[in-house]
Amino acid sequence: MTRNYIRELNHPIYELVGEVAEGMGLVAYAVGGVVRDIFLNRRSKDIDIVVVGSGIALAKAVAKRLSPHLKVNVYKNFGTAQFVYDGVMVEFVGARKESYSHDSRKPVVEDGTLADDLSRRDFTVNALAVALNGPDKGALVDAFHGVDDMADKILRTPLDPDITFSDDPLRMLRAVRFASQLKFSIAPETYEAIRRNAPRLEIISMERITEEMNKILLSSQPSIGLKLLDDSGLLVQFLPELSALKGVESVNGQKHKDNFLHTLEVVDKIAMNTDNLYLVWAALLHDIAKPKTKRFDEKVGWTFHGHEFLGSKMVPTIFRRLKLPCTEKMKYVQKLVGLHLRPQALVDDNITDSAVRRLLFEAGDDVDDLMLLCEADITSKNAAKVKRYLDNFALVRQKFVEIEEKDKIRNWRPPIDGELIMKTFGLRPSRDVGVIKDAICNAILDGECENTYEAAYALMLQKGEELGLRVQEISDPAVSETANDVD
Ligand code: ATP
Ligand code: MG
Repeated sequence: MTRNYIRELNHPIYELVGEVAEGMGLVAYAVGGVVRDIFLNRRSKDIDIVVVGSGIALAKAVAKRLSPHLKVNVYKNFGTAQFVYDGVMVEFVGARKESYSHDSRKPVVEDGTLADDLSRRDFTVNALAVALNGPDKGALVDAFHGVDDMADKILRTPLDPDITFSDDPLRMLRAVRFASQLKFSIAPETYEAIRRNAPRLEIISMERITEEMNKILLSSQPSIGLKLLDDSGLLVQFLPELSALKGVESVNGQKHKDNFLHTLEVVDKIAMNTDNLYLVWAALLHDIAKPKTKRFDEKVGWTFHGHEFLGSKMVPTIFRRLKLPCTEKMKYVQKLVGLHLRPQALVDDNITDSAVRRLLFEAGDDVDDLMLLCEADITSKNAAKVKRYLDNFALVRQKFVEIEEKDKIRNWRPPIDGELIMKTFGLRPSRDVGVIKDAICNAILDGECENTYEAAYALMLQKGEELGLRVQEISDPAVSETANDVD
């Protein structure tokens, strides 16, 4: 018996699409990722249908059968239409031939046969189709030996790879992304073409590049993709700071580690333990300023002093360029990069209560993510050393719990804010305001000042006096209480 692939696609929509297409005298096919994923036991997120004829007309007719209210989005210029059904995006396209101009991804589109359509797809494993109606209903169309390549776990372009990649350079990133997601290798001639065409990435919008980059970072072993990105010459075009981490320098026989390989190791470890994309970004960028801060000191060897601060400052530049959200997500990455050496400093400091409070205050609710990053950052090959570090970090975690229970620091705000300081001394926003604010905050975290409004207020007056400031307005709680009484 021949295999009925429609059954394996395992979604009621395919039978319906076939039935509607049949009624219109057209033949429709399931195509691309959904067919590939049958062979990979993977769940597809979206459904793609190709029809020899009008994709838009078919989409409208199918939608009508599903519900009179179903909204169909039509993209006339691309000849595509889509709707969301039962939480799944279903996209329809008419089979087409395409030719491209040199400086854009926007193709000139003409109607074509199914074979034309499959040949312009990115990889042979994505160029599989299943007939949904007609004489071959349920059969697999495999014009480019995609099933063989699937078995060999190989990504290969259906046509000459130089043409495929030059037509749409985004496909080079897709190759790397699929290699990382599916753990497939890229066929040698396909890979060579990526290296040759890598500079063509310049015509791709940053949003599309970042979308693929994010998928690489969320794959189970991002280092596969990141190594390919770097080696192929793609990475340097949008994230040169990461490529700059590569290499080992030696002075007087003293070497530092390769910070690119170290970073990849940290990223893999984090990716294994989280699906928080921005924690993976933090791992990727945690040492990003090492090349800029690298020095050789005759006495201590290689140093990267301040790389965490400078790295944290580099994050917004990178986020802006990559069109990543410059929101609290970015601040989170900045925070983790900026604090990533602190837990180790705590250990060196014998884990004093005040240092623990201070770090809890600065990390807030992200302290657990910070610890994950720090633990992943231990990439020594010396097992005894690794164990010592991890044991120390376990102690730090325990101390966090103890202190948090006692002092509730995670979401703590100092009792006196900048507003009050400005009002009291008649100041505009200025350095003095920050100095007083930090002094109060640090004194409380260090246990030198009680965590109360009254004690903080007294300290504020004292610090103001030290700075030669004059009190303009009194808002001592005792005074304002009396005022309230009069009311
Ligand atoms: P995913 O699991 O990420 O959804 P997918 O293979 O389904 O993977 P889509 O972006 O959903 O990827 O695209 C669906 C199909 O459309 C692909 O399988 C491929 O056949 C084709 N395709 C998508 N983008 C391109 C492209 N840039 N060039 C050629 N073919 C493409
Ligand atoms: Mg898909």
